Amino acid sequence: MKNDHEYAAVCPICGNTYTGHPALSRTDNETLICPDCGTRQALDSIGITGSEQEKIIETIHRHTQR
Ligand SMILES: [Zn+2]
Repeated sequence: MKNDHEYAAVCPICGNTYTGHPALSRTDNETLICPDCGTRQALDSIGITGSEQEKIIETIHRHTQR
């Protein structure tokens, strides 16, 4: 089934192709990035470091699998 809400783009930060709703980069407020990088930047802004970020993203993925 065709889904017009589905959006595919290449993330300028990680280089992955992603679908779904892009996130807005916090660094310039205009670059569209993938949801994972959006999550990383949000976690970064509250002081959560690399390996903790990956654990949280992994958890999010587990709970959002279709
Ligand atoms: Zn990304």
